[in-house]
Parts: sequence; structure tokens; C-alpha cells
Amino acid sequence: MKNIIIGIVCAAGVLASAQSWLVRVPLTDQDLDPLFNQNLRIVAQIDNSALVLAAPAEVRAGWDVLDTDAERGTFYLALLLEPDLDLSPHGDILIREGQNVLIRLRPGGLDGLMAERVMLKKVFLRPIVRQSRAPAPAMRADPVIQEIVNLVSADSILNAVRRLQNFQTRYSTYDSCRAAANWIASRFLAYGCDTVYLQTHTSGHAPNVVAVKRGALYPDDIYGVICGHFDSYSYSGQNFAPGADDNASGTVAAIEAARVMKDYEFEFSCRYLAFSGEEFGLYGSEYYAGQAYGNGDSILGVFNGDMIAYADHWPESLEVMTRVSNPPCEPLADFFIACADTYTTLLTHKQLTSNWQPSDNQSFLDYGYPALMHIEDFYPINPYYHYPGDTIGAGYNNNAFCTEATKAEIAALATLVRPYAAAAEEPAGPPARPSGIQLEVTPNPFITDIRFTIHDSRSMDKELSLKIYDASGRLIRSFVLPTTYSLLPTVVWSGTDQTGNAVPAGVYFIRFEAPGLTAVRTVVKTR
Ligand SMILES: [Zn+2]
Repeated sequence: MKNIIIGIVCAAGVLASAQSWLVRVPLTDQDLDPLFNQNLRIVAQIDNSALVLAAPAEVRAGWDVLDTDAERGTFYLALLLEPDLDLSPHGDILIREGQNVLIRLRPGGLDGLMAERVMLKKVFLRPIVRQSRAPAPAMRADPVIQEIVNLVSADSILNAVRRLQNFQTRYSTYDSCRAAANWIASRFLAYGCDTVYLQTHTSGHAPNVVAVKRGALYPDDIYGVICGHFDSYSYSGQNFAPGADDNASGTVAAIEAARVMKDYEFEFSCRYLAFSGEEFGLYGSEYYAGQAYGNGDSILGVFNGDMIAYADHWPESLEVMTRVSNPPCEPLADFFIACADTYTTLLTHKQLTSNWQPSDNQSFLDYGYPALMHIEDFYPINPYYHYPGDTIGAGYNNNAFCTEATKAEIAALATLVRPYAAAAEEPAGPPARPSGIQLEVTPNPFITDIRFTIHDSRSMDKELSLKIYDASGRLIRSFVLPTTYSLLPTVVWSGTDQTGNAVPAGVYFIRFEAPGLTAVRTVVKTR
């Protein structure tokens, strides 16, 4: 078993009820677990604070009530790129913690807030999803991955960036941003994606672009993601916001992925995603991730490139940023770095935080999906950031760096979804089992029942165990098996957990242990 998969937990979604208070809860050791254990509705995390929706009776001593009618407010998290910024002209400052600000916008305050030197996320008043500890996907060197990575072309990347820059502006509510969405969709179609569609998310905004390359073995709703936002912003007016580095670069990584992976098959599906509305506070990705979660999609990992083409020194290293918990993403970061190290010359630098992430990967994290952000520097030090000078040659000043970063994202994605041909070799011929025990699993994928048959070539008593885990590594079922030779077991699992409830469609791991043998099998429950 070469790969272990991380994915989602379907926690019971609790909707924000009317007349909730928005409350700041100080955190001990940045740990949200005690709050989850009390079934509190956590909507965001800032370093040492959780933002919680609470009924008045739930509020405890030591908590700060920020708003007693949260549903009527519009709240934004802002990361200050200059320490002394005063955001108070745009609304009420509710929290100021280091470079983090929580602001309740005054009506019409968003334009002014966007014009500040800040990175933004709208606070959506829905609880974030809890995820238990996720196992790491495993890196395994594979010549097929190197072959795919070698197809990545610096010219192809530069040409696509130039095409996006030539839209003049991709401000999310402008027609030229819609035109850019159509052009991106045309690329995905040209590169043979099985499904391409525009996804409308917020009134007045250009749509997201969603492209699907279907997996050869597993259903469509289990997939890896490469993504970037394609909308842009300029402090000098929205008619010219070329956004070459921010973020034609990350968008083109997703387009290039579709191009170089087109003639290969993978076990799992890939999704190439381009988001709009990011500059307004992660609108497009919030919608996408919420839909994915609602549909029960299993997302194996998300690679989100946002500004990957500016080098302020050489060699530049790519920041690999994510959260340390909720969900725990360090395993995915290490997996990405191992892929980058194996298949590219890219230097990387891991940055883990308990703070919110100021790009589209945060939307996935909020729904419990493991997700990384890739950026040239953090905090951003590109002097052309959100200026008309963000063009090829200025804000986008290093195509070689962008090419290596793109290669690393593609290597990680292709490894995550597993080249099909390489995987097909595994079951060919019965592998040597030192114990003489074999586990047969059929059918897989399954809809209701799956059968595990244990074959044993020798007659002896054995201690056997068969345990079923969900994609996040949580134990779902555990079977006690007869251990005498005369009762060699066939176990039928009807897709229910220990309490008899049906588990959702998705990926599950079967761990079978016998003396001298530990076998892990991936099984897929479909709908
Ligand atoms: Zn950006």
C-alpha cells in the first residue's frame, strides 16, 4: 500500500441560528478541541482566539461579546501588511491581535477596506468542520511522475500568464473577468478535461471555473485539487489590474497541470479550479468548498498557488503555508515538500500557523479538507502587489521560479491521485505472503455490501483483526474474527459504523492484521 489518504469527516453540520451572538473565546495552546467538545459553533480562528456563534446563555466568563445580533453584521478578517494601518474608517474594530483585525463593516465599507494594504477573508457565519487527525499521504518515487513533470514548459506558462495579463483587468465584478473565466474554461476543454463548467457563486461576480479529469478507478467525488484565484485588484483603480503574479501565476499552474496530465490516467480524479471573488474575501472558494462538503466529496488534498512568480533574491524559495490543526495539514505540507525535492529543483520553506490563511486554501480548511497555500514570500514583499506594475517583467519577474513551483504542485497532485498504470502492477500475480494468508476484497468499489475473504494456506490458529477506518483515519468498525482454521472467515461489511449507522460514500481503509502480515486496502463506497 503506497498511499494513505486524507480526507473529510462528515461532522454534523450545525447551522447558525437566529439571534446568535458573535463572541471571542481566548484559546489555550491554540487548541480548538475543548470548544468542539462543547459543541460550540466556531466560525473562524485567529491565532489565540476563536470566533464563536453563541446563544446568550452559552456565554461564559472571560469571553468577549463582539456583537449581539451577528446575522445582521458583515464581518471581515484583515491581515495588516503595514503594522500601523487604521481601518476604523471602514467599520468597527472588534479585535486587534498583532497584525490581525476583525472588523464589522459599515454599510458600503468594503471598497475602502479593499483599498487598504490588507489581505482579507469574509467571516461566513457557518461553523467550521472538525476533522480528526489525518494520516499523511506517502511519497513514492515514480518515473511516470518525473515524465509528467518534465512536460511542464516555461514557454507555455509564460504565454498563458501573458494572455491573462492581456485582459487588462480581472477585477471580479468586471466583464473582462468573465471573459477571462471563459478563456480559462476553453483551455481546460482543449486539454481534454472530462467536465468543464462555470460555477456561479456571488451575484455580480465572475464565476469560478471547474474542470474535472476523471479517475480511472475511483468515482468522481474523490479527488485531488490544484487551484488558484484568477481575479485581480489594483490600488490605482480597477480598469488596469493585470495581476500577473497575483494571481495569473497560480491560475496558470492549474492550467498547465491539465495540459501535462492530459495523456495520463490516474486512479483518482483531479480537479483544476480557478476561483473568482478571492480579493473580496475568498467568495468563490468558500462557495466551491461548501458545495463540495454538502455533496460529500472526498478531497485528498488541495494545492493552492497564490503569487508564485516574484523572486526578491536568488535562489528564491517557495513558502509552503498551512495550519497546524483544524485540520492538521503538516503531513500534507511534508508530502508536498518531498515531492518538490524529488522531482524539481525548487527550494521550499514550511510555515505552519494556527492563524487563518489569507487565500483560497482557507475555504477548504474551514470544511475540514487538508489544503496548502504556495506563495513566493509571506508576508508578501512583492512591491507591485495590487499595483498596475504587476506585469511580466516587474511584479512577475521570474518565470524560472514560477516554472519550478508549478512543477512541484503538479508532482504533488499527480502523486496524490496516483498514476493508474503504476498502480495496476500491484495486483498482478499473487504477491508472496510470508504467513500464507491472503485477503480478498470484493466488490470494490461497493454500494451496500463488501466482502472480505481470508484465505489461508496453512492450518494453525491465528490472531486476526480487521479494522475499518474512514479517510481521516478514524476507526469506524472493528471485526472480531474466528481464529481457527476450520472457520476461515468471510466478513461482510454493510457500510455501517459501530452503532449501525450507514457511513457516507467515500474512501475507507481496511487494516487487516495477522501474524507476519499487515495489509491495508483502500475501498470505496459509492452511492
Ligand atoms: Zn492573491
